[in-house]
Amino acid sequence: MAVASDQATSICSHCDRAIPTSNLDLHVAHCSRKLEKCKVCGDMIPKRHAEEHFLSTHAPVACSLCSETVGREILAVHKGENCPQRIVTCEYCEFPLPTIDLYKHQEVCGNRTELCHLCSRYIRLRERDVHESRCNGSANNIAESSRNTIPAERDLGAPARRQPHDVSRKRLLFTIAITGIAVLFGSLIFQRKAEESPVH
Ligand SMILES: [Zn+2]
Ligand SMILES: [Zn+2]
Ligand SMILES: [Zn+2]
Ligand SMILES: [Zn+2]
Ligand SMILES: [Zn+2]
Repeated sequence: MAVASDQATSICSHCDRAIPTSNLDLHVAHCSRKLEKCKVCGDMIPKRHAEEHFLSTHAPVACSLCSETVGREILAVHKGENCPQRIVTCEYCEFPLPTIDLYKHQEVCGNRTELCHLCSRYIRLRERDVHESRCNGSANNIAESSRNTIPAERDLGAPARRQPHDVSRKRLLFTIAITGIAVLFGSLIFQRKAEESPVH
């Protein structure tokens, strides 16, 4: 209190700070020549560092995961909740993968089946939670017959309408795998030929 009333102060018209009146002229001269007010945060920044200040404090940044340019203030939210490349885990197999691939993966992964130990039926992983809440554990006729002739990968508990869908998907994946192998072999052979006969 004593300090504050000790000296009269005036407001610098350039930086809006209270400056001892005795120093005001000197301050304003220095202030207006050397400093400028950042338009974003309002801090007084040395003029020659203004650009550097903007780039390091306010400029949008590229997300290190997806390379998209996002506002600095939302980068954390982007990386945590919105980035298509952020890593999430499959709810069925807990495999970590980028969000952008999750839907397709879970489409396939959720169609895998697992034996319910209560009713001895094969249940799709995507239906497991619902099934577990409803399963009364009674082994019905289907369960009894499936126990004798266990068709390991067949899904006896699933609605029949999904079967053709499944088959075509498996076939598609198989085709993709075969194509991949063929391309790999093709390139290996091509490479070898190129090495053996460098002169054409
Ligand atoms: Zn000033
Ligand atoms: Zn600023
Ligand atoms: Zn991103
Ligand atoms: Zn999965
Ligand atoms: Zn069950």
